[in-house]
Amino acid sequence: MKKKILVANRGEIALRIIRAIQELGHTAVAIYETPDSAALHIRVADEAVWIGDGPRSDYLSIETIIKAAKNHGVDAIHPGYGFLAENPNFSKACEEAGIIFIGPSHDVIRDLGDKVIARKIMAEANIPMVPGTDNLPPGDEGMKVALEFGAKYKYPVMLKATAGGGGRGIRLIENDEQLKEQLPVARSEAKAAFNNDNVFLEKVVLTPKHVEVQVIADKEGTTIHLGTRDCSIQRRNQKLVEIAPSMIKDQDLLDRICETAVRAAKAANYFNAGTVEFLVDKDYNFYFMEINTRIQVEHTVTEMITGIDLVRTQIKLALGKTLSFSQDDIQIRGHAIEVRINAEDPQNDFMPEGGKTVSVYRSPGGYGVRLDGFVYQGFTIPEVYDSLLVKLTVFGFSWNETVDRLRRCLTNYTITGPKTTIPFYLNLVNDADFQKGDFNTSYLETHPQLFDYTVDTSAGSKIARLIAEIHHKKENTYAI
Ligand code: ADP
Ligand code: ADP
Ligand code: MG
Repeated sequence: MKKKILVANRGEIALRIIRAIQELGHTAVAIYETPDSAALHIRVADEAVWIGDGPRSDYLSIETIIKAAKNHGVDAIHPGYGFLAENPNFSKACEEAGIIFIGPSHDVIRDLGDKVIARKIMAEANIPMVPGTDNLPPGDEGMKVALEFGAKYKYPVMLKATAGGGGRGIRLIENDEQLKEQLPVARSEAKAAFNNDNVFLEKVVLTPKHVEVQVIADKEGTTIHLGTRDCSIQRRNQKLVEIAPSMIKDQDLLDRICETAVRAAKAANYFNAGTVEFLVDKDYNFYFMEINTRIQVEHTVTEMITGIDLVRTQIKLALGKTLSFSQDDIQIRGHAIEVRINAEDPQNDFMPEGGKTVSVYRSPGGYGVRLDGFVYQGFTIPEVYDSLLVKLTVFGFSWNETVDRLRRCLTNYTITGPKTTIPFYLNLVNDADFQKGDFNTSYLETHPQLFDYTVDTSAGSKIARLIAEIHHKKENTYAI
């Protein structure tokens, strides 16, 4: 039966979800705040609801969104990622309003959103993890426990906000002095950012690979995995480039990581799509890090190598279907790479370039190329949201073919107006270590040459581009 599904998000992920809703024959309802008035997701959706002036406050208002959903006779809500996606109160409010939440139940979101509780659940299920503390007690007592942990496990240690996410609230601590200085700061920052001042310590895995596993589970408890992704290429613990499958050659190890992920999801009574994150050390030991209870930015690479439409599957499972495929049906083919093209200046500490207008937008295409974006020529990037413009995902049979395809796409991509991360990624595809598939979470620090490029923004180059554009317009041969 035709359902009405509201997408509680914006940007590329709103479009991604709207597409899946429409393909399933349901009605897609978009929401937007005033700064997003010119956004594409509003135009593509079947209905659009203005929820307020924002910025951000209305996308983050459970009350406003539930009210909009009720007024519009909505049956289900997809939260996307970010905003309210991992807020257990949102999923609970949906349940209470009789609206299906497309994701796990609120108690699972609550437990797994707390890194210390998640570690406890995993410890009980014998999932391997690095040693860590409980929530540090307040005051001197907490400092004592922390200093003892540093002495026992040897620095460096990781100081983490228990309710943290998105790479925020994580600090590397090298010695007692730093611990003494940073612990109170970390607490107050965690309180401000996550409204929860709990922090804990974890032993550091030196130069690890970040390997995560996509899992999917139906309400009958059937839980399967869709292979691995490597998200080691990060900046300040935030992912920039994602690859599927992991380039680790030891297939037996990857199989064990995937089986462990399924066990972890089962231990948490997981339902719908989720991601189990691990760190893999240089000796190929692997350790549980956390479970993300939502669709992730990088889900596209898994879709490319498995053929499974994850968002379609999420919706069908939430509407009560069981999984129509089993673990044996999942076949990993080829390689996929996603780069997050952001309106940022890598040479200026990735300073956001929001507020600028995209004057020319010409995207690549062809075999094995997928674009998940939301900008168009003439679009002014709102300053008040994140700087992701488009995710470029390429697929290839071999790793080399995939890297060659990525290079070709980046070379053919024209975005003018804001500075973007494209030239940085062009250096990446030309780097020998990347070409070998050899990277860990220190990649950016150990490869400063990625920042070494010049973009021709001279008046002469601008005029040349302008003339080319006018010429194209006359000939009517360019496509947005
Ligand atoms: P978030 O919830 O912000 O995603 P995670 O706990 O998943 O936080 O960690 C994000 C990133 O921080 C990891 O991908 C990794 O690069 C780094 N990191 C986290 N914990 C450790 C650790 N114990 N040792 C080394 N690196 C870590
Ligand atoms: P559909 O809505 O097309 O019936 P399902 O809900 O069964 O699809 O599955 C969701 C996604 O998984 C779709 O992208 C579908 O193409 C894919 N899929 C379904 N069955 C299999 C299978 N046996 N092997 C691989 N992929 C499958
Ligand atoms: Mg994480």
